[in-house]
Amino acid sequence: MTPQAAYDELIKQIKEISLLSSCGSVLGWEERTYMPRQGAGLRSDQLGLLAGMCHEKFTSPRIGELLAAAEASDLTKDPTSVAAVNIRETRHQYNRATKLPKELVEELTKTTSLAQGEWGIARKNSDFKHFLPWLEKVLGLTRKVADAYGWKGEPYNALLDGYEPGATVDEIERVFEPLRVDLVELLARIQKAPKKPDVSLIEREYNVELQRVFGEMVAAAIGFDFTAGRLDITTHPFCTGIGPGDTRITTRYNPRRFNDALFGIMHEAGHGLYEMGIDKKTHFGTPMGEAVSLGIHESQSRMWENQVGRSKEFWVYFLPQAQRIFRESLAGVSVDAFYGAINYVTPSYIRVEADECTYNLHILLRFELERAMVKGDLKPTDIPGEWNSRFKKYFGIDVDKDANGCLQDVHWSAGLIGYFPTYTLGNLFSAQFFGKAKADIPGLTQQFERGDFSKLLAWLRTNIHEHGQRYRARDLGQKVTGQPLSHKPLIDYLKGKYAEIYGI
Ligand code: ZN
Repeated sequence: MTPQAAYDELIKQIKEISLLSSCGSVLGWEERTYMPRQGAGLRSDQLGLLAGMCHEKFTSPRIGELLAAAEASDLTKDPTSVAAVNIRETRHQYNRATKLPKELVEELTKTTSLAQGEWGIARKNSDFKHFLPWLEKVLGLTRKVADAYGWKGEPYNALLDGYEPGATVDEIERVFEPLRVDLVELLARIQKAPKKPDVSLIEREYNVELQRVFGEMVAAAIGFDFTAGRLDITTHPFCTGIGPGDTRITTRYNPRRFNDALFGIMHEAGHGLYEMGIDKKTHFGTPMGEAVSLGIHESQSRMWENQVGRSKEFWVYFLPQAQRIFRESLAGVSVDAFYGAINYVTPSYIRVEADECTYNLHILLRFELERAMVKGDLKPTDIPGEWNSRFKKYFGIDVDKDANGCLQDVHWSAGLIGYFPTYTLGNLFSAQFFGKAKADIPGLTQQFERGDFSKLLAWLRTNIHEHGQRYRARDLGQKVTGQPLSHKPLIDYLKGKYAEIYGI
């Protein structure tokens, strides 16, 4: 078999697996939006069957043979060619998928499914002791997973690689550490600031149906194509790129808070725009038709949510429109007052409700603790104490109960250890990319004042979306911005914003 024939068969096979897996995506989306509660058992069987079929097809020795035949050829000579990228990233996935013993996968699936239920009970009663044995079990299995993958430096690297391929804990820490120092200092200055925005105006009555209308209008204005996607309601908002021409986003509405749904929609639409911008018509089912990493994905959602959606220029255009829709709640509100209210900063317990300034402190705390746990430097039993003392140091407030502290996130019970840093990577990349877009596109933010987002979207498409997995996150960032990942662009952006709002 020629290398080209091997490559062609490889692509045919992985495209078929992706097609099968996309059926699971539709079912997964429906499970979280419309499925009646009693359908849960059947749905879990359906999804389990599909996942098992995909796994079996993908880990078959035939895929390994085809990869080996295609690798030893000219196809990989130019590392950024379509074939070389598809071969490199399929090899990466294949190695990860075949290294885990079946028994370990099964034990992990069973344990995390039970652990999530027990975590729910523990959180409800704020009872860490109830969760402790489960955390110990999940951690033990996760360490075995890291060992099975193999690692350099420390086992956390093997876990991180599953979400942010090629990233290492050392390079992340070099950026996270100065970020934390600067954020703690910035937060302290904001809290002592003489000027404070009036947050109450976004906590008025906002009719849910009108919020949907306004949210869809905003999503469409920034480029989300409703003939190739839709918006629905869920409990924990998400975006799923099912395939070419089909990207689903979700949100939830709070009738007494304007921010939750609107910025949630902009966030998920940002993920959606990335999915829509990848050339899936040509590359669906192959790495060239996939997003780079969770961090890069999050950079897209955060950019539309924050750099665009929480900018003053955006509201110069959209506030008058919002005022026509929410007549009573927004009557007489100025752009400055509104801009201040949506950017209000306050230390709070819950990560998912955090503002742009404190959000990353939540992530850095989790990253530090889970890394120490995986390394064996921190025992699960010591988590609440360590969490609370760091929280006091970073946020300046005491945690009142574990439900508001170490028990708030589902991640550890679900076995998602190594996932948290991708949220902050997303924020760092978003600031760095946006800075470069501003330098490349004259008058970019003034375009927002006219409701024009097409140039930013076109820039993102050419520089990021269309490449699929051509570059790893680190190289993509360097290539697009000419700089390595740094905490500076994010800190400078935040300092500039809060200097105006808080007069600091
Ligand atoms: Zn996101």
